[in-house]
Amino acid sequence: MNLQIITPDKKFFDEEVDRIVFKTTEGDIGILPNHEPLTTIISIGYIKIKQEEKERKASLIGGFAEIQPDKVTILADAAEWPHEIDRSRAEAAKRRAEERLAKKSAEIDRARAETALKRALVRLEISQYSDK
Ligand code: ATP
Repeated sequence: MNLQIITPDKKFFDEEVDRIVFKTTEGDIGILPNHEPLTTIISIGYIKIKQEEKERKASLIGGFAEIQPDKVTILADAAEWPHEIDRSRAEAAKRRAEERLAKKSAEIDRARAETALKRALVRLEISQYSDK
């Protein structure tokens, strides 16, 4: 099946794949060719892409997936291969979010800080994988 991953700034991926697994708001979902049509909401996590003997992993930071039997289209807020992730930027984002969450002030937008923390933790995890 064809997999397309589109982010606001580019077409991140457009190739034939054998199997994908990614994180939705209802848990991990694995998609093989000929899956029934389905639309899902992607949470802050990763996508595993299996092509013949190769398996790759990328961060997948929110969005929507439209599944058709021969095609999956993902509109993502952001997606990065491990080598594209700037670890010090993610460390800094993690620190900023943790500092905000540690404050007791009512002015803190906790949900916003929590999602920023999740994005940073996913990037730090995915950056450890090889993308070959
Ligand atoms: P920051 O606070 O560091 O900007 P963020 O979580 O707010 O991080 P996003 O809004 O999720 O960033 O992403 C904005 C753009 O920056 C996207 O194109 C995303 O791929 C890229 N990006 C964010 N963090 C990193 C990172 N650590 N390494 C590489 N690219 C990143």
